[in-house]
Amino acid sequence: MIELRTPAEIDEMRAAGSFVADVLTELAAASAVGVNLLDLDRLAHRLIRARGAESCYIDYHPSFGASPFGKVLCTSVNDAALHGLPFDYTLKDGDLLSLDFAASVEGWVADSAVSLVVGTPQEEDLHLIEVTKQALDAGIAAAVPGNRIGDISAAIGEVARSAGFSINTDFGGHGVGRTMHGDPHVPNDGRPGRGFPLRAGLVFAIEPWLMQSTDRVFTDPDGWTLRSMDGSRAAHAEHTVAVTDDGPLVLTAR
Ligand code: MG
Repeated sequence: MIELRTPAEIDEMRAAGSFVADVLTELAAASAVGVNLLDLDRLAHRLIRARGAESCYIDYHPSFGASPFGKVLCTSVNDAALHGLPFDYTLKDGDLLSLDFAASVEGWVADSAVSLVVGTPQEEDLHLIEVTKQALDAGIAAAVPGNRIGDISAAIGEVARSAGFSINTDFGGHGVGRTMHGDPHVPNDGRPGRGFPLRAGLVFAIEPWLMQSTDRVFTDPDGWTLRSMDGSRAAHAEHTVAVTDDGPLVLTAR
């Protein structure tokens, strides 16, 4: 079911949005050569407790998961694209790290992700990250009343394909509200003018993710982490966005 939020509710959702944005800013600043992924998860956990927020991930247990996620942060390194389960790994020079974080503050959820390079970047990694961000920006720009979900999807897909990337549409954006995952689904490619009509009050995450040279993934033996089929690197960019009569409102803007 697709739910519409009142302007007052969207106003309430700003607290979750700015908290998630601030946590990602702190985590990005803390991501450096020699830092362990488990340290980043612990830092996120401390920030959650200090704010009196609730993790959306720690008890997350979808039908495909063998057990609850158990961490509060997704850390996807290099060929890991999505849902990276933090493990005992120390970041190395040149690692491409994606951080995906969702939390609930005062009953409302926000969800956001960012990719960065730790230490000395390779040009092709910076390009992948940049195109992924441009795809997110294009998707956000299309999130206006009168458009349809397909216009967001098409805008994302156009940026990615123009840059020569193929797109996996198995995982994409989703409605965000009292819980992390709701309707509508926001695919990362599609046809303009199709799908659910956008109107003020819709709140959803838009989250393009791209891999260097494939659109296929497999699940790591940890049961969660999705890795590129060919070992190429991946990037992810995500914001929680409210459709308003004044245009798209990025609740998780950093
Ligand atoms: Mg997310």
